Amino acid sequence: MIPISTVRLGPEVEERVLSVIRSGIIAQGPVVAELEQRFAELQGAKHAVAVNNGTTALVAAVEVLDLQPGDEVITSPFTFIATLNAILEAGATVRFGDIRTEDFALDPASVEARITPRTKVIMPVHLYGQSADMAPLVEIARRHGLKIIEDAAQAHGARYHDQGVGTFGIGTFSFYATKNLTTGEGGIITTDDDEIADRLRVLRNQGMRQRYVYEVAGHNHRLTDLQAAVALPQLDSYDELVARRQQNAALLTELIGDVDGLVLPRQLDGREHVWHQYTLLLPEGVDRDTVVEKLAAAGVGSGIYYPKLVFDYDVYRAREDVIIDDAPVAASVARRCLSIPVHQHLTDDEVRTVAAAVRQVLGA
Ligand SMILES: *Cc1c(COP(=O)(O)O)cnc(C)c1O
Repeated sequence: MIPISTVRLGPEVEERVLSVIRSGIIAQGPVVAELEQRFAELQGAKHAVAVNNGTTALVAAVEVLDLQPGDEVITSPFTFIATLNAILEAGATVRFGDIRTEDFALDPASVEARITPRTKVIMPVHLYGQSADMAPLVEIARRHGLKIIEDAAQAHGARYHDQGVGTFGIGTFSFYATKNLTTGEGGIITTDDDEIADRLRVLRNQGMRQRYVYEVAGHNHRLTDLQAAVALPQLDSYDELVARRQQNAALLTELIGDVDGLVLPRQLDGREHVWHQYTLLLPEGVDRDTVVEKLAAAGVGSGIYYPKLVFDYDVYRAREDVIIDDAPVAASVARRCLSIPVHQHLTDDEVRTVAAAVRQVLGA
C-alpha cells in the first residue's frame, strides 16, 4: 500500500535527539531557542515562539489579542476542526466565510460580507500547503481595523508574492507527526511584533517572565528540547523536501490532467505551494467512498480532508458562539475532495502507480 503520509526520520534526527538526552536538558532549553530562530528565518518573520502543538498556537494567538466575549473571528469552514476549537477555547465567537475552489481558502468577498461591529480578527487557513489570497484580506483588515491570524498549520515555507505565510499578521504552525515538518506533537507562532512575541512567551510559561512573578494567568504551552531536536535536521533539508513534493505534484498533474471532470489542484500565480496535500475534486455524482475503496484495492492510500464543514456537527449547532452562515462552495468542495499521496518519500514509480490507479478507478 502506498500511504497518504509516511513518517521517516533519518540518522541525523536520532543523533540530535540522543545528544539532547545526554545533555541533561530535556525540557524547553537551547534547542527550542535554536528551532525558533531557524523557523523565523524560514518564514521571514522577526520572531517565532514554539509551543506544544498547533492548536495551542492558535489559542495563544487569539488570546494574546485580548478579545472580549462576543468578539468575532471570521474563518474558513473548510479546515481541520482545531481551527474552530481554538477560537472557542480562547473565548471568542466564530463566523464563517466561504472559500474559492482554486485555493480552497477564504474568499475575501465572503469575508467582507460577514463583518459586523463585533468582528476583530480574520483567520485565513492556508490549506494543503498553499497560501490564501492575502493581499485582499490584508486590505479588508486594514480598512476595518481588524487583526489577522493565519492558520498555517499545513503551510511551512509557503509564500505569497515572496512573503512567507505567517508574516501578514500572527502566524501559527503545527509540527504534528504528518505535517511537512514534525516534532511528533508541536507548534510555533510567528510574528513581527516585539510586544506580541514577548507576551506570547510570558503566556507560554505560566504568565511569568521572572520566576514566581506572575504578569497574567498563563499556561504551560512549552515545547521540549527533545522535540525541537527532531525538527532541526528536517529544517536543514526542508528545501529538498519541498522540491520533491513539488516534483511529485507536477508529475501527478501531468499523468491525470486529462481525466474528464476531475479538478486538479494547482499552484496559483505569485504563490509558492509546499504541497502538504495533493487534493483533487471528483466529478459531481461520483461516489467518493467507492473511489477510496477501489484505490485501496489498487494499493493506493487516500484521504478525505475534510468530509464535512467544521460547523456541520451537532456539538456546534446549538452554541451561541458559533454563528453559521451558508458556504455553498465549501459545502460542494467537502463533498467532492479527495487527497492522494504526494509526499517526499514517494518514488517516481509510486507516483505513476498512484496516477494509474486514479485513471483506472475513474474509468479514464
Ligand atoms: C494540524 C492542524 C491544526 C492543529 O495542529 P495540531 O498540532 O494537530 O494541534 C490546526 N489547523 C490546521 C489547518 C491543521 O491542519
